[in-house]
Amino acid sequence: MSTQASRGDIAAFDVARIRAGFPILSRQVHGKPLVYFDNANTSQKPIEVIDAVDRFYRETNANVARAVHSLGEAATSAYEGARDKIARFINAPTRDEVIFTSGTTQAMNTVAYSYALPRLQPGDEILVTTMEHHANIVPWQLVAARTGAKVIAAPITQSGELIVEEFIARLNPRVKLAGVTHVSNVLGTINPIRELAKACRARGIPLLVDGSQAAPHLAIDVQALGCDFYALTGHKLYGPTGTGVLWARKELLAEMPPFFGGGEMIRTVSFDGTTFADAPHKFEAGTPNIAGFVGLGAAIDYVNRIGLDTIGAIEGELAAYMSDALKSVPGLRLFGEAKDKAAVFSFLIDGVHAHDLATLLDHEGVAVRSGHHCAHPLMQFYGVPATARASLAFYNTREEIDAFIAAIAKVRKLLA
Ligand code: PLP
Repeated sequence: MSTQASRGDIAAFDVARIRAGFPILSRQVHGKPLVYFDNANTSQKPIEVIDAVDRFYRETNANVARAVHSLGEAATSAYEGARDKIARFINAPTRDEVIFTSGTTQAMNTVAYSYALPRLQPGDEILVTTMEHHANIVPWQLVAARTGAKVIAAPITQSGELIVEEFIARLNPRVKLAGVTHVSNVLGTINPIRELAKACRARGIPLLVDGSQAAPHLAIDVQALGCDFYALTGHKLYGPTGTGVLWARKELLAEMPPFFGGGEMIRTVSFDGTTFADAPHKFEAGTPNIAGFVGLGAAIDYVNRIGLDTIGAIEGELAAYMSDALKSVPGLRLFGEAKDKAAVFSFLIDGVHAHDLATLLDHEGVAVRSGHHCAHPLMQFYGVPATARASLAFYNTREEIDAFIAAIAKVRKLLA
């Protein structure tokens, strides 16, 4: 995790005040205080985000880019203002490279159908890694099946680190696109994107980065990373569901035909043919999730106010505490022990099924995810059908980790 924040920033971090700004965190589940450790699945929302969405519908609601009346202008300016905020947040060279999507999944599919499909030939390859989410596997398989291309994967170590030399060794002239997660949703591994991007660039292969799990925790600078596409999802970034971003270099966007057609993405339409608007609008057919993006803009403001350096440092301390605490649990197997790792802990306990564990923990007020985490190939690599996963955010506390460990002890006793 990033530890750029000074001790002063961390000392000034008042977790009780922060938590008071997330209404859901004060609720109870099964009569116990909620311990929300499912942040990698979706994060909770601060009052600023909830209020921004509420205020939009109460005061500004109108469609965007198609009305000259006051509400239409206010809605358009709030929606496009969110694009400016996101462009700055990821250090995009221009706001026109920021495409709004419904989430990472739609971002990946846009690249699959608008970039990959028109280019792929029989025998071509798309390179991913063993630790990818299905969103960074299945769209490539769909376009590969149509074109005779295939999806190949670079291997990882048992401790959950990408074997970089193996990734680079697979960058042969048949590879037309590489896709790598910035942070693994199962293992927490932070991948060395700059190094991978450099290797891809040297061979003229575009690199797409799945930033779903990175954007809420690490400062993202797409120019410094050197990648070609970057996808993220708003609901993990403390914003509303149904919001996401695809960033792509403008030269690539200019060459990509649109994937969805309809209103708001055209320049002219006649029955003889249609010409398209420039990016980003070319990729945003139809009425978008306006209130959602206004909320995502508020989420970005919120994260900026706390600072990703501070968030990284707080989560780093929580992760170290969690890691030590989990080591004290008898019979616990941890998946993902990369040197560079986010606060995501996948685990199994001897003799306990992950779903039983998650269900019983829920009765203690602790929300963790159980299942394959949309990462079947990774589960196959470890030879397990499922794991339990506790994923932390800066609003979690050591007391919650203690409560989680106590709940695990109770569950183990129950099932012994
Ligand atoms: N990629 C990763 C690494 C994820 O963790 C997720 C969500 O869990 C996704 C992609 C898909 O995101 P969404 O469902 O918001 O499109």
